[in-house]
Amino acid sequence: MAACGEPGKQRQEEVAAAAVVVVGSCMTDLVSLTARLPKIGETIHGHKFFIGFGGKGANQCVQAARLGAKTSMVCKVGKDSFGNDYIENLKQNGISTEFTYQTKDAATGAASIIVNDEGQNIIVIVAGANLLLNTEDLREAASVISRAKVMVCQLEITPATSLEALTMARNCGVKTLFNPAPAIADLAPQFYALSDVFCCNESEAEILTGLTVSSPEEAGKAALVLLRRGCQVVVITLGAEGCMMVSQTDPVPKHVHTEKVKAVDTTGAGDSFVGALAFYLAYHPHLSLEEMLQRSNRIAAVSVQTAGTQTSYPFKEDLPPTLF
Ligand code: ATP
Repeated sequence: MAACGEPGKQRQEEVAAAAVVVVGSCMTDLVSLTARLPKIGETIHGHKFFIGFGGKGANQCVQAARLGAKTSMVCKVGKDSFGNDYIENLKQNGISTEFTYQTKDAATGAASIIVNDEGQNIIVIVAGANLLLNTEDLREAASVISRAKVMVCQLEITPATSLEALTMARNCGVKTLFNPAPAIADLAPQFYALSDVFCCNESEAEILTGLTVSSPEEAGKAALVLLRRGCQVVVITLGAEGCMMVSQTDPVPKHVHTEKVKAVDTTGAGDSFVGALAFYLAYHPHLSLEEMLQRSNRIAAVSVQTAGTQTSYPFKEDLPPTLF
């Protein structure tokens, strides 16, 4: 592995390092809207079909990039048309794809989604190429990970790869922001110890702690359990209620309120929040944690007011200058 700050891969020209590096997933959403969900063996007509860009890793990276962060996406897609389109999408968002790998051995991650008129859905996710991102790939990307200000990862790639990314970042003094989603009950203890900021939602906090988390007070209790496992900071998002925070330096849970907005589509709100938090950690590290979370709340609130996932994420130009 390259030493911290040294390029691991020879490049023709030195480019400025990405401040926010995301090691995570890309998924193509294939969405069909139908009057009702089909029964087993049945074929029905839908009234609308669209393709969306998703995957928690890419979503978070896109939100950070739209706020003005210099970003790089370390991920793996298939050598197929969805993979090509995804790389183009990352580029369109100004994200470096230098370490976006393409493989012939699996298809680009895809989510087949059917939504009926009541908003109920059936979803099948095939993570595909995401599961082939491995520690070799990370070593090749060491130059970009080691020079970042913040490294973000989740659990839509193999846990071993996420753990290696966290270890590499920690060894180089890069701040780690870990979003344990989708949550696994028996998460290895190293994930907590390697997280500078551990950020999850209420249902993930329930799975991780075994506690019921349906109020800010309960979220505070769960956050303390997670903090005791070794994270420096724990944040639990609470939808319209904002989020809960607690840290090793201030181990009394604090509710960070937000202004409730009428939600049109909350899909990807958590990823908008995490992407915004990564931006503040990298570009405004002197703000208090509470201030960073208040601002992240406000950005995520914008994302729930429009349909879609990445399509609903705001750009810096759309937001009040006071957020920057
Ligand atoms: P999803 O799984 O839909 O992506 P999530 O469950 O991971 O979302 P939430 O906790 O529901 O994440 O929401 C993330 C953040 O979005 C909240 O912490 C809050 O800042 C913001 N948010 C969500 N819904 C609202 C709302 N109705 N009004 C204001 N802010 C909201």
